[in-house]
Amino acid sequence: MTSFAVPDAIEPVVGWRYWRVDKKAGLLHSLSGARGFLWQPNTRFKARCPAIKHTGIDVRYRFISGMRIEMHDAPGERCRCGIYAARDLTHLRRQILTGLAIDVVGEVSLWGKLIPGSKGYRAQYAYPRRLFVIQRTADWDQSKAAEALSVYGVPVETISYRQVGYNPLATIGDLLRRMRSPREASPTR
Ligand SMILES: [Zn+2]
Repeated sequence: MTSFAVPDAIEPVVGWRYWRVDKKAGLLHSLSGARGFLWQPNTRFKARCPAIKHTGIDVRYRFISGMRIEMHDAPGERCRCGIYAARDLTHLRRQILTGLAIDVVGEVSLWGKLIPGSKGYRAQYAYPRRLFVIQRTADWDQSKAAEALSVYGVPVETISYRQVGYNPLATIGDLLRRMRSPREASPTR
């Protein structure tokens, strides 16, 4: 047994995320963060507040939304830190991620401290649950990338960008048939 385990005593919440793939390491890489963060296999990904340094609170982050921040574990209620995940693929697809090259989309297990928002969550711990390597064109062979991601020990498949890429009009109907879809009331016309 490794030190890592998605706890099964409490059902983890499942969210959706995009990632890049770090070409050198062949590992998932968060889109955000100046230097970015690698997601290590068999290791829970832990949220860190960019404002909190071991020397204290980083002056650049002293105020967030006009509020003075205090020492806290991530995610902080009055902060913006935490591991972000959308509540479902539809919400994820509505996010504009200009200039960011997304390589992978997938489900992520979230646990520990969770702060729900209108579109998703900020979590303390996360680990990939199911991964889809995004194929931009039909003839782009991504089997190597998919193989590399098998180190995470979760199902990995390939998927076309059309099914999972940015789409502000994405609806629940766009969800892949193989994914269980949350029950949502359809908007009244
Ligand atoms: Zn914070």
